[in-house]
Amino acid sequence: MNVALVTGSSRGIGAACAAALARSGYKVCINCIERMDLAEKLAALLRSEGHKAICHQADVADAAAVNEMVRHIEADFGPVDLLVNNAGIAIPQQFQDIKPETWKRIFDVNLGGCYNTIQAVLPHMLHEHSGCIINMSSIWGQHGASCESAYASTKHAIIGLSRSLAAELAPSGIRVNCIAPGVIDTDMVQVLGQETLDMLSREQIPLGRLGRPEEIARTVLYLAEAGYTTGQVIGVDGGFII
Ligand code: NAD
Repeated sequence: MNVALVTGSSRGIGAACAAALARSGYKVCINCIERMDLAEKLAALLRSEGHKAICHQADVADAAAVNEMVRHIEADFGPVDLLVNNAGIAIPQQFQDIKPETWKRIFDVNLGGCYNTIQAVLPHMLHEHSGCIINMSSIWGQHGASCESAYASTKHAIIGLSRSLAAELAPSGIRVNCIAPGVIDTDMVQVLGQETLDMLSREQIPLGRLGRPEEIARTVLYLAEAGYTTGQVIGVDGGFII
């Protein structure tokens, strides 16, 4: 049985991915930075269904904490062979209002988090000549968006990182892919307000509705098993970007 780490998986897209992976046979580590009660509730639910799940609180921006989490997973389940870099934050603001510490934090979590987790799991993947890394970008990693300059910069960088690593690691049997979700119905987008979300559904999303976290999870399951696919960015956005 394979071992999966899904960062930022106490709620939203990450929780749906962790649940889908556990239900398809992966031993899963659920990670979050806060609200461990949510992570523990999800892990308990999955265990009650007969699946394997543990949780570990760690800030993905903190390399030492990430290394400790990976050691914890190795001790309980064995080395990670599927990494889903899902943890991410968005703080929409006009560029001139972004404080240096906010800019740095968004980069440290969204992009630095990928660096820290990949560094932590890569030695085992290289040793095994096998592994799968899935990084969560966004439609704002493919297009620009007003008031999202920091977030969009990190999500563009995640696509660059994924493509470059895919090229570098393919000869080592390791696949790296990206998902670019559109507007998905999670806590993250509630800051936009219902009126804006309704307007987006009506005017920007050809399929006429927000996406569901489970629809991203299905793409994670697909990429986890898609043995001949690497370096790709899969849009799951209801047609937002065509
Ligand atoms: P969310 O805010 O609902 O959940 C975020 C999760 O990440 C939580 O579990 C939180 O504890 C965790 N987290 C945040 N900072 C962390 C840190 N430093 N270390 C560890 N965990 C941390 O978000 P979501 O909507 O489920 O989004 C998940 C991912 O998908 C993010 O990378 C986001 O950028 C991306 N995304 C979301 C949407 C959307 O519309 N919801 C669209 C495109 C991309």
